Amino acid sequence: MQTSEKYARISASPTLLIDSKYKAMRASGVDVVGFGAGEPDLDTPIHIKKAAIAAIENGCTKYTPASGTPELKKAICQKLLTENGLFYAPSQIVVSNGAKHSLTNVFGAILNPGDEVIIPTPAWVSYPEMVKLADGVPVPLVTTEENFFKFKIEDLAAAITDKTRAVVINSPSNPTGMVYEEEELRAIAELAIEKDLYVVSDEIYEHLIYEGKHISIASFGEEIKNRTIVVNGLSKTFSMTGWRIGYTASADHIAKLMSNVQSHSTSNPNSIAQAAAVAALQGGLDFVHDMKAEYIKRRDYMVEQINSIDGVSCLKPAGAFYVMMNMKGLYGKSIDGKVIDSANTFAALFLEKAMVAVVPGEGFKADGYVRWSYATSMENIKKGMERLKVFIRQLQ
Ligand code: PMP
Ligand code: GLU
Repeated sequence: MQTSEKYARISASPTLLIDSKYKAMRASGVDVVGFGAGEPDLDTPIHIKKAAIAAIENGCTKYTPASGTPELKKAICQKLLTENGLFYAPSQIVVSNGAKHSLTNVFGAILNPGDEVIIPTPAWVSYPEMVKLADGVPVPLVTTEENFFKFKIEDLAAAITDKTRAVVINSPSNPTGMVYEEEELRAIAELAIEKDLYVVSDEIYEHLIYEGKHISIASFGEEIKNRTIVVNGLSKTFSMTGWRIGYTASADHIAKLMSNVQSHSTSNPNSIAQAAAVAALQGGLDFVHDMKAEYIKRRDYMVEQINSIDGVSCLKPAGAFYVMMNMKGLYGKSIDGKVIDSANTFAALFLEKAMVAVVPGEGFKADGYVRWSYATSMENIKKGMERLKVFIRQLQ
């Protein structure tokens, strides 16, 4: 029987594939260390868990409005105002099953067949697939390590065609950790206005910035705010990856399109997770500040270690919790007769021989790089770095 050609063009998420492979190996007793999926290692704070338990006990167990409860939308509006200087009304908020779902809604709402979306690369693995799912065309805008994985405004201008509908901004970035400065964001905003583009601003790592500070591109005035869809979620800030709460803030008509579609597809996100999300947003940011202090130590250690090993190197990321390791210096080397000729082969051999899971760069459109997540314990990081040294020493 025939199946959908469109679905056949969508590949599985390499980050989640690595993660499930790593978890299966660990479950079967293998001493594997995982640096794959970007998932905070700390548990969800107790006050958030308690709010979920109270929600169950108080009967918060029914359908809610498809785009989220009024309480959660209000808490999100309050957060956007106090943390980001953005005024949105609850009608402009759509709460979804994780930011991944929010982004899928966004591309569905703004694209028509053939519309192009500019995605600066290296980019998170899911953006191009989401764009294709919405019948759009992902257009990579290549950035390089020499330029700290940032594009120049003239590169963005040159990538715009009369089919360009949107540009994705992910600052801090997964996988590079780069953070755009205010002047850079202002230039992007000006260009987006001039060229009549949407800006999809994925701000999920906003609180994980070690150098500089987060600024939402939507905060530069009404004109840019109206054409920006701010995407955010609770997974990273509150270590709530499994709870699946993400949201968008946008112009009313876009929110309405997304909300209508969501009302037929998933309906509301989990009612208990929504109640817990209110407690998370209203409970202050101490948790993420402590987590950030811990991540700084891990990042510094990992960066120092990688840069002390011959054949590999990395930049010091300014945000998120990933390090992109340049491994081009290992091309042509081999182990047990197997030659490293790509990040894919490196990652496969590193997992097989050294029992360390990292994400190869190909999925991020970053050949020659592998991504390490440092959202894992210092003990694991030390083990991973040791194994990297031994593995590289064994190469011929
Ligand atoms: N955007 C980026 C850049 C991410 O790294 C992630 C992590 N999965 C997401 C969005 C989606 O997160 P979630 O669906 O867990 O909210
Ligand atoms: N965003 C995280 C990552 O890049 C989690 C996995 C995923 O959703 O892709 O690893």
